[in-house]
Amino acid sequence: MFCPPLCVGCFIIDRGVVDIYINFLLFPTGVTSVKGRIRIDRERCKGCGLCMTVCPKKKIEISPKLNTKGYYPATFLEENVDDIDKIECTGCAMCAITCPDVAIEVYREEKKTSKHETD
Ligand code: SF4
Ligand code: SF4
Repeated sequence: MFCPPLCVGCFIIDRGVVDIYINFLLFPTGVTSVKGRIRIDRERCKGCGLCMTVCPKKKIEISPKLNTKGYYPATFLEENVDDIDKIECTGCAMCAITCPDVAIEVYREEKKTSKHETD
């Protein structure tokens, strides 16, 4: 899939290009990448799986443990990853936008990369 140089709002999204746009808009002058984390409210979640299907990094799965309402809620696979370099979530928020129950919060963290590292 290929995006034009400027977004025309076609909703046919090339994730790689969107990540570049996000990084450019947030950090126009620095060499920086964005890492993301999400928090899923397991008691609000009805386990519909929509967030799983839209996550470009495939970092959401359905938990084998029921919540108190009797649903199998979604769970974030990188919840316990402490090393920022190992996190693949980009904080794109596709999961949160898609969730019909507003059960997902997204947090973004800036990862500075030295110019030397990227050469
Ligand atoms: S913010 Fe994006 S990459 Fe991270 S879990 Fe949600 S959909 Fe996946
Ligand atoms: S989209 Fe929302 S309700 Fe559906 S599984 Fe994901 S977190 Fe749960």
